[in-house]
Amino acid sequence: MISYGSQYLEDDDIEAVVGVLRSAHLTQGPAVERFEEALVASTGARFAVAFSSGTAALHGAMQAAGLGPSDRVVTSPLSFVASANSARYVGAEVAFVDIDPSTLNLDLAAVPACDAVVVVHYAGLPADLRALSERPRVVIEDAAHALGAHTPDGPVGNCAHSDMCAFSFHPVKVITTGEGGAVTTNSCELAERLRRFRNHGIHDRGSGAPWYYAIDDLGYNYRLSDVHAALGVSQMRKLRRFLERRQALADRYHAAFVGTSIIRAPRAGGGFSHANHLYAVRVANRDDVAAELRQSGIATQVHYIPIYRHRLYEGGHDPHLFPATEEAFPKLLSLPLFPGLTEDAQDRVIEALVQVDGG
Ligand SMILES: *Cc1c(COP(=O)(O)O)cnc(C)c1O
Repeated sequence: MISYGSQYLEDDDIEAVVGVLRSAHLTQGPAVERFEEALVASTGARFAVAFSSGTAALHGAMQAAGLGPSDRVVTSPLSFVASANSARYVGAEVAFVDIDPSTLNLDLAAVPACDAVVVVHYAGLPADLRALSERPRVVIEDAAHALGAHTPDGPVGNCAHSDMCAFSFHPVKVITTGEGGAVTTNSCELAERLRRFRNHGIHDRGSGAPWYYAIDDLGYNYRLSDVHAALGVSQMRKLRRFLERRQALADRYHAAFVGTSIIRAPRAGGGFSHANHLYAVRVANRDDVAAELRQSGIATQVHYIPIYRHRLYEGGHDPHLFPATEEAFPKLLSLPLFPGLTEDAQDRVIEALVQVDGG
């Protein structure tokens, strides 16, 4: 079975992890700092704070921004549920705005007055934050798909038009730590709040007796272990190679579907570059197509069930308010795309899809 996404691990990744296992520190050692330094170097942000998952990173960003029960947070309905749940964790109210069908990203020009917006870079194509009609108090990027993508103002994660940017390092994402996430920011104050939040609220370790620490606010254990961080350091060295491979595979899909009824994935233009986490086409009879591909040994995925369709978000979110999301969702199908996908395997996917869709 060809999967839709998969990690790409090499011997040196495995050696990096084994190195930590043979060292004195499995957690709270030096690997997390090295991973954060690699993220700073790659994104150009001043600070990076590693978390145990992308979801924990988003929760940290909400908390650090001071969002709470009286606040309204707008996000895209075409995302993983964590983009919205993280606002619920701090008691904020979630509102959705429809997508722009040409990019499948949140239609930023349509975002109404609100306290915060969570901008998801769907599939790895950066949303153009300059299009935000009115900048709310807090702008958080959910860049779980978009590590390594660029905007005209530099790499995603440099927070040129946001307060914080969250990443995920789940195995299907652009690089992996097994489970893991991070927030980048240019604010020293936000970075400090993020660090406290991921470690029980603990701070001020150095100023008293050796056993002393202070806790002023409620925190969590959202730390990334050194075992995971060492994998991240090793994977970050391969980021450019992974992105090139993903781009080449996306280009092959793009060329192969010319002249078919398959609606191809949105491309980057105007000074933006794509991280190609997903290659999501739109096809008629999507469920039949997916079933036939599965018969041919090809796994696909649907990104995503619109968040307002989940029972957790029912009430106050009428699907008719999201015509572009409702139009796209029944057709969306993510095709296999990961660095280890061979051209032969991709050709099998292309042939099978063109045949199913045409016949
Ligand atoms: C993967 C993902 C997350 C959550 O990341 P985890 O590391 O799995 O917790 C959040 N938002 C989006 C858009 C994602 O794809």
